[in-house]
Amino acid sequence: MIYLDHAAATPVSKKALTAMQPYFADDFFNPSAAYLPAKKVRAAYEDAKSTIAHCVGAKNNDLVITSGATEANNLAFSLIKKKCLVLATEHDSVLNVAKNYNYEEIAVLKNGLVDLNDFKKKLSADVELVSVALANNELGTIQPLAEIASLIRAERERRLAAGDKTPIFLHSDASQAMNLLDINVSRLGVDLLTVNSAKVYGPKGVGALYLSHDVRLKPLIFGGGQENGLRSGTENVAGVIGFATAFREAKEHLNGNRKKYEKLVKILRDELKKGTVEPIFLGSTKHQLANFCPVSFPGLDAERLIFKLEEAEVYVSTGAACAASKGQKSHTLAAIGLTDEEIAGSLRLSLGELNDEENIKQAAEIINRVVKEEYERRK
Ligand code: PLP
Repeated sequence: MIYLDHAAATPVSKKALTAMQPYFADDFFNPSAAYLPAKKVRAAYEDAKSTIAHCVGAKNNDLVITSGATEANNLAFSLIKKKCLVLATEHDSVLNVAKNYNYEEIAVLKNGLVDLNDFKKKLSADVELVSVALANNELGTIQPLAEIASLIRAERERRLAAGDKTPIFLHSDASQAMNLLDINVSRLGVDLLTVNSAKVYGPKGVGALYLSHDVRLKPLIFGGGQENGLRSGTENVAGVIGFATAFREAKEHLNGNRKKYEKLVKILRDELKKGTVEPIFLGSTKHQLANFCPVSFPGLDAERLIFKLEEAEVYVSTGAACAASKGQKSHTLAAIGLTDEEIAGSLRLSLGELNDEENIKQAAEIINRVVKEEYERRK
């Protein structure tokens, strides 16, 4: 098989798997228990949490471990009393929680980058949270978070000068960026940051929310008071250790990864250009994660392409896996102004550890064949 859907899921790395193994049946103790073996488990858990924190330039106690990015995103929004702004292309786990609050969407430009003029217009005095993903999950677009953070800082200062105590914070979902970008909360200027084990070759069902000291959240889950009372429930020790191991590994390979994927995506694009239907490469190829190759074959039906590619054991998706499985039109592709025909013919190809030059060339050849067959069927 050729797997081109690393934005949907990544296989757990061998190192992460090995690191997790002892914590299932041997060191299985509840980290909150009082005896020595349990205390050792607590120490291993806290150590792993520190590793995750360090990977984003934070401290251990600035993190809340969650059941994944969805929960971390939901928790971030719990600080809102008045209003929030979210980028129109956010993942459903941001957009759908925002809908429970007074919210507005910030427009994006045709290349998927935030429309800063629209943002400035909507940055009103009652906005308490702005949520913009570091990199988009369908287009791989990398947003200028530092610029957004600086506009938010100016608004904070304006409020301070006016004696207005309404706080304002910047949240970013970094789920897709962790393999390719050197994430540092201070450099990005974010107050809250979501990270996701499942996208970085760690186990699924684990994530974390970084929060700066002045952020006050309301827990979504009540119970034994774990994670400083912000996320009760017995700790997912093995999961967090797997996440920490995988995240550290990814951090060590950032540069190598970027070079590898830049080369592979170039090969993929060049090969696809030789096909029957001229592909449109989506988003800003300049401000894009190196492993992303979102592409549209206008006039074709991506659902059929996926089905035919699956027959040839090439696995790709149309945009976000969750939207695709429900047959919905991508809100992200609509937000960048693609026509219905362009959206209908769009595939998200996302590369990762399972790819090399040989299987990328093979995949391109198969995609070109399937596209040609579909094009001829429609004539
Ligand atoms: N945010 C982004 C950008 C994602 O790509 C995903 C997963 O697809 C999520 C959040 C949700 O992650 P999870 O399903 O692990 O909670």
